[in-house]
Amino acid sequence: MKAPTLFDYKEVVGPDIIEELTILASHLANRSIKMVNSTAVGGGVAEMLHCIVPLLNELGIQVTWDVIQGDQTFFDITKRFHNALQGQEDYFKEDVFNTYLAYNEKNNDEIDFGEDLIVIHDPQPLALINWNQRRKNKWVWRCHVDMSHPNPQVWRFLKPFVEKYDAAIFSSPLFSPELNIAQYRFYPAIDPLSDKNRDLDAVYIDRVLMQYGIPRDRPIVTQISRYDPWKDPVGVIQAFKMARKYVDCRLLLVGDKAADDPESEKILEKVRAEAGDDPDIHILLFSPSIATEINAFQRASDIVIQKSLREGFALTVSEALWKRRPLIGGAVGGIPAQIIHGHTGLLVHSVEGASLGIRWLINQPDFAKQLAENGHQRVKDEFLITKSLKRYLLLLLTLDKQKEQTIFLSY
Ligand code: UDP
Repeated sequence: MKAPTLFDYKEVVGPDIIEELTILASHLANRSIKMVNSTAVGGGVAEMLHCIVPLLNELGIQVTWDVIQGDQTFFDITKRFHNALQGQEDYFKEDVFNTYLAYNEKNNDEIDFGEDLIVIHDPQPLALINWNQRRKNKWVWRCHVDMSHPNPQVWRFLKPFVEKYDAAIFSSPLFSPELNIAQYRFYPAIDPLSDKNRDLDAVYIDRVLMQYGIPRDRPIVTQISRYDPWKDPVGVIQAFKMARKYVDCRLLLVGDKAADDPESEKILEKVRAEAGDDPDIHILLFSPSIATEINAFQRASDIVIQKSLREGFALTVSEALWKRRPLIGGAVGGIPAQIIHGHTGLLVHSVEGASLGIRWLINQPDFAKQLAENGHQRVKDEFLITKSLKRYLLLLLTLDKQKEQTIFLSY
């Protein structure tokens, strides 16, 4: 499929948004950005860069994207860093830190950092700044990790590198640590034209549901998430069972798992045990899943639930809101930024709350429809890729004039 252009997004977000981007970009002609991350495919960051890099180029900003190189040793270390930053307990020996630095230094030798703005994504290439302290350009660290409870040892090691940057970007104020540099908030964003989110033919949706044996005889309540304790799939089943005493519905759990993830096997066993042989609970496991099928499951759902107990942002929430689904979400992490209780969905704090939410939304379809409509608008305003483009343009302008309180733009 041909990559979408700004013209294609105009159809989705309206001409004003695209015009605003063009005006902002006109103040930044010939400026350049380099994005650096650790993988070209897989994961939300790579997915977002694939979309955003060509669009920024189309706006006249010269954007390049470099991927740092490493082997299993390096990526095992950075995976441990990632988990530890998200709060997992771990203990790192000194040689682990030295190995991490050696890989960063080698990558630094191979990348040219001549652009006006360097955006380093996540912890893997974070230490590149170490060899670029006497620079003329601006460096920003974009953190996509939930940093609300970082492991102190790994944070003690990484923080001095972060503070060598000109600024840092976090996905939520809840995750932003105390730092002596400027901090900005960028929400993650979804691409309305991707296979995961684009409009689908009703016939295709029916076919997918039929293919996986999900009858459409009553309301479908769906959670789409990795089988992970923090996503609380067991709590979802408990809430569904409580609600079903009062309202007729089906539950669909959809998840994918990495082939080598022992954790997800354990939680799947618990999920299956909780579901028992209930014919109204459908548990699907993909490895990996297909984007258009996920899209179809979301569109076929009468209610989408994301009952997380801890959460970075939960792209699944934006994806479902965009599709005008009534949402029930755990009041954690980035979910309350997307679900405003009683306006764009329902926030819950317990199994009982989730069960009440299911009953409420099934019994009050007009209210559910209004929430869904408001939710769609909220995603349109805040969580689409066009908003990310605007944030990058504003970042360039802001860093140009970091000392000024107000930036005047002539139109
Ligand atoms: N997802 C998927 N297949 C699945 C489960 C999830 O494609 O079986 C997608 C989901 O649509 C979303 C992403 O994986 O785009 C998960 O992102 P999110 O921020 O919700 O959670 P994370 O897994 O990053 O904690």
